[in-house]
Amino acid sequence: MPAADLVIRGPRVALSESANLSSSSYPLPESIRPASIHIANGLIVAIGDYDEVPIGCAVEAASASEIIIPGLVDTHVHINEPGRTDWEGFASATRAAAAGGVTTLIDMPLNSIPPTTTVAGLEAKLAAAAGQCFVDVGFWGGVVPGNTHELAGLSAAGVVGFKCFLIHSGVDEFPNVTESELRLAMPELTRLGALLIVHAELPGPISKAGALACHTALIETGMVRQEDARAAVYQTFLDSRPRAAENEAVELMIKLAGEFGTRIHIVHHSSADALPLLREAKASGLKLTAETCPHYLYFAAEDIPDGATEFKCCPPIRERENREKLWDALESGIIDLVVSDHSPCTEKLKLKESGNFLEAWGGIASLQLRLPVMWTAAKARGFKLENLIEWLCRAPARQVGLQGRKGQIAVGCDADLVFWNPDEQFRVAPELLHHRNKLTPYRGELLQGTVEKTFLRGRKIYDGGEISRSPEGRLLLTGFHSHPVSTG
Ligand SMILES: [Zn+2]
Repeated sequence: MPAADLVIRGPRVALSESANLSSSSYPLPESIRPASIHIANGLIVAIGDYDEVPIGCAVEAASASEIIIPGLVDTHVHINEPGRTDWEGFASATRAAAAGGVTTLIDMPLNSIPPTTTVAGLEAKLAAAAGQCFVDVGFWGGVVPGNTHELAGLSAAGVVGFKCFLIHSGVDEFPNVTESELRLAMPELTRLGALLIVHAELPGPISKAGALACHTALIETGMVRQEDARAAVYQTFLDSRPRAAENEAVELMIKLAGEFGTRIHIVHHSSADALPLLREAKASGLKLTAETCPHYLYFAAEDIPDGATEFKCCPPIRERENREKLWDALESGIIDLVVSDHSPCTEKLKLKESGNFLEAWGGIASLQLRLPVMWTAAKARGFKLENLIEWLCRAPARQVGLQGRKGQIAVGCDADLVFWNPDEQFRVAPELLHHRNKLTPYRGELLQGTVEKTFLRGRKIYDGGEISRSPEGRLLLTGFHSHPVSTG
């Protein structure tokens, strides 16, 4: 064991109780106790009692009000660089991540130009990201019609898995796939051992709802101006993205997962009506996981003001009753993890002037806020810090094969640590946010829990509002076959 060059310690440290990192029994129990974390070359090499510090070793100590928790892992982030860097870029996104206690994020394969659907697209991403990242960044590849021959190359180049859409993605350069196109790609994904993550909404129920809504509007008003007014009402948008679109998409993916044996993950799940399907499929032994997002767990459709397009995302934020069922599903393990789906755009594209929900860009900016939003809402429902660490750190790390390296405080893991004050409150204001575009539905919300310091591989990257000057994040080209490796 190499001698520690740094000890980070605190009176309350959230530790993984199992020393066996290859253990497949999750969630592992967590204990919060006084401890010293011994670090050499950025890795945790030992965990000792609070007072165990090698003579002459540098020490960084958390205060009595702070808990040391693992750095968060966010596997659903849209960075948009190159091509749409005015929406979000590597530097601004990873600075926001550092301030939010996120030490590892995985970038989505779309909204950048080119998208990450070819090896050349991934190379463009890597070139854009190089030297700009303040936290560690990995990459999803994309499945689009006709790119099955690219999947092996992308896999070898180190993407963590592949994303597809079952409905228009919002950008034309990342077209969605149909069932017949999935039937071409899925055998290859299974052969590669790759995880397929799916935007699970089908167009059928949405066009049906759209046609109905449009029809109703014409009968009611016959006037374009009044149709515009209807488009600024949140309920109009909610009606246009019915639960059936998600329910039918989940059903399709369960069917295909059974047929092809592909590992499937449902992203940003919102419809509570599909939860029994997910539960049954998981119980039947399918390799199926699901995530939801803080906005589905925090907000309720009934409270969204007219014209407040910063709340628009797809699938939509649904009713309060739906939200509470998502919490139940998290508790019972039907939903495995909570990631941000940080998907910002320029303020202009949110059409704040007209407040037109149907035309505005869909996507919610929240990369920096996932921990306090989740703590505020989880604590109110009686959940514990252990739950939060499972949903925000460990389960996302497992999803992308980074268990044993990220998402927990344990020997052998990277020393990615957060000094976090669970009792301090703050009100969300644009000047606190490091996202490139500050528009967010959380503006003005009073949230619980503040990130005081963030460490990436033992190096302090955030301290009380200040972000380190040098971007020391690594590009994680992990693949999904072998043990993860990284490049500079
Ligand atoms: Zn997304």
